Amino acid sequence: MSKTVRELLVQATASLRDISDTPRLEARILLERATGFSQVQTITKSEEQISSDSLYMFQQMLSRRLNHEPMAYILGEREFYGRDFKVTKDTLIPRPDTETLVEIAINYINSLDYRPSVLDLCTGTGCVGISVAAECDCDIALADISTKALECAKYNAENLLNQKTDIIETNLFSNCKIYDIIISNPPYLTHEWCEEASEEVQKEPRLALEGFSEDGLSLIRDIVKDAPSHLSGNKSAIFIECDYRQTLELKKILENTGFTEVKIYKDLNDKQRVVGGTYVRTIN
Ligand code: GLN
Repeated sequence: MSKTVRELLVQATASLRDISDTPRLEARILLERATGFSQVQTITKSEEQISSDSLYMFQQMLSRRLNHEPMAYILGEREFYGRDFKVTKDTLIPRPDTETLVEIAINYINSLDYRPSVLDLCTGTGCVGISVAAECDCDIALADISTKALECAKYNAENLLNQKTDIIETNLFSNCKIYDIIISNPPYLTHEWCEEASEEVQKEPRLALEGFSEDGLSLIRDIVKDAPSHLSGNKSAIFIECDYRQTLELKKILENTGFTEVKIYKDLNDKQRVVGGTYVRTIN
C-alpha cells in the first residue's frame, strides 16, 4: 500500500537514526528533492501520497544514504560561505572549518593597496578560491591534479563568478605561474587518520585527504618548499589549512623557508586550523 508523505518521513527518519545525527532533517531534505516539494508543502501535503516516480527516487536516495554516502554527494551540492557549490564524488566536500581559510585570505587581500593575483592550490570544488574571488577584488587561478575535480571547479567558477578564472591541471606547482597570494586546503590527513575517519569521509577521494608521511605533512612540505619561486614577493602571502595537531610544525616549516609574520589561526570550533605567513623577496 502506498504511503503518505508523513508516513514516509517517519519511516525514513527511523531508518536514518542509526547512521545520522540529524535523521529527521536528512529524511525531509531527501523527500523534498525527490518530490520537488518545499518545506511548507511537506507539511501541507503530509497526508497525501507522492507519485511513483518520486517514491522511486526517494527510495534510491535513501538507500545510498543508508550506505553512508554523504548527503552532499547524493544532492550533488553543498553550501559553503553563502553559496551553493556543485560537488561530485571526485571532490572533497566543502567543510565549514575551511571557511576560516577564506576569511583570513579575504582580510589579507582587503588590507593590500593593489589587486593581487591569487592561486588556490588543490582546489577541489573550487570553493576556497571562488569564495575569495567573489568577496574581494583579485584575479583567481584554481589548480588541481584531478581532471575531474577541475571540471567541477570550472563549473562552479562559471556559475558563481563574473570574472575570468584560470583553471590549471597541475601536480602541485608544475604548471603554475607566479602569484601574489597562495591559498590551499591540501590533503593533510595521515594514513591512520584516514583509516579512522567515519564511513562518510571514507567515501571521499583519498587523493584529496591523505597528505602522506608519518605526520601527514609531506604534500604541505612540498608546497611550502616551492612556494617562494611562485610568489611575486610583493607583500606576498601563503595561507594553508591543516589539522590542529600539525599547526606548530607547519609554522616551523614556513619560518624555515623564509616566510615572516607566520601566524596560526583558529576555526569557529576554537581549533587551530590555518597557518599563514608573508613573503618578501629580498633583492641581492
Ligand atoms: N578536514 C578534513 C577532514 O578531517 C580533511 C581535509 C583535507 O585533507 N584537506 O576530513
